[in-house]
Amino acid sequence: MKNYILFLGIFISTISFSQDKEYAKLCLTKLTSNEFKGRGFVGNGDKIAAKFIASELKKHKISPIQKSYFQDFNIAINTYPYKSSVLINNKKLVVGKDYLIVPLSGSLLGNFNLVYFDSTVSNYENKIVIIDKKRLQNYDNQKIRKFKLLNPAKAKGFVEIVDGNLLQVQSQKEANFVWLQIKRESFDSLATSINIDVKNKYYDNYKTQNVCAIVKGEVDSFVVFSAHYDHLGAVAKEAVFAGANDNGSGVVMLLDLAKYYSQKKEKPHYSIVFLFFSAEEVGLLGSAYFTENTLIDLKKVKFLFNLDMVGSGETGIAIVNGKSYPKEMNVLKEINTKNNYFKNLKIRENSTNSDHYYFTEKGVSSVFVYTEGNYKEYHSIYDNNVEALLTRYNELFNLLTQFVEKIK
Ligand SMILES: [Zn+2]
Repeated sequence: MKNYILFLGIFISTISFSQDKEYAKLCLTKLTSNEFKGRGFVGNGDKIAAKFIASELKKHKISPIQKSYFQDFNIAINTYPYKSSVLINNKKLVVGKDYLIVPLSGSLLGNFNLVYFDSTVSNYENKIVIIDKKRLQNYDNQKIRKFKLLNPAKAKGFVEIVDGNLLQVQSQKEANFVWLQIKRESFDSLATSINIDVKNKYYDNYKTQNVCAIVKGEVDSFVVFSAHYDHLGAVAKEAVFAGANDNGSGVVMLLDLAKYYSQKKEKPHYSIVFLFFSAEEVGLLGSAYFTENTLIDLKKVKFLFNLDMVGSGETGIAIVNGKSYPKEMNVLKEINTKNNYFKNLKIRENSTNSDHYYFTEKGVSSVFVYTEGNYKEYHSIYDNNVEALLTRYNELFNLLTQFVEKIK
């Protein structure tokens, strides 16, 4: 009985001073709702998300690093804030589901002839050129890419036929032609004309912001947790890229970690810094800006964990740039094995694939953690399934916080 009470006591204390998955889930539901507009640059999605993050930090009494939580910077960005329409044989296609506007696209309005790409043709004026890998013998990816980007045959635009998932990205450039990707099953291969109404809005100087906060520790050095909060935004009013796994999952873990460290009875040993970056999807712009205009002394960073797409984990986690820190990776492995958190820790070489990268360039010990498992949606409108995410949330949360304890 005594043991039981002791056990219960430990149990209750871990509940009140540890991760709060319910809180994380609530935040994830919020961040992926339509009101956040895919956390992009249409309808101020980024600012709505940044404000939400700051208000959560404030609610948990977590201080900004400087006076404001926001670190502003400007980016160039091409967006599609207006309703668009694409009709083939009078059949309306649905943006996000049947087709995507490749983010480099300019505006175009009208009815155009559709022709299949032919390398012997040098003039495509007033035509939309269909590029279908399957119909091209000796398909040369580089050559075709150059043809689309430079458009020497002066086509009005391109329709690329895509097998499998449509994959959205962001662009800082704008072309003077239109470029669509259409799913093979949504495209009538015999169609000879297409009706297009696509309108872009280009910003040279769009003001966005990182969100930066700190929980002060006992010593004057830092452990940093970072995650990008931006995603692909809303396209043509109809397609909203909610980015539940990418990277709502990382953001909510950071919010929960911030709450955990601020509510802990004893001060953490290291100061814990929380960096929520914008414009990662545009090309790591938020973290690039932060490392050039840092708000903390980067020499005093003990270790940085960048979390990007951490919503699953059934088969394990991957740690990009872990290979550079064998000592720290051994500590992680030890905690993982002892507690049976993840089946596998995949320790990888460094790569430019997320916001840890510019920190490694500045000599900061930094890794990028992502999870691997059942959830596969990536950069599509279907990355919105909150219920299917945070499956190994507690395990990752505990692995990270125990690591921070161990490296004192
Ligand atoms: Zn992404």
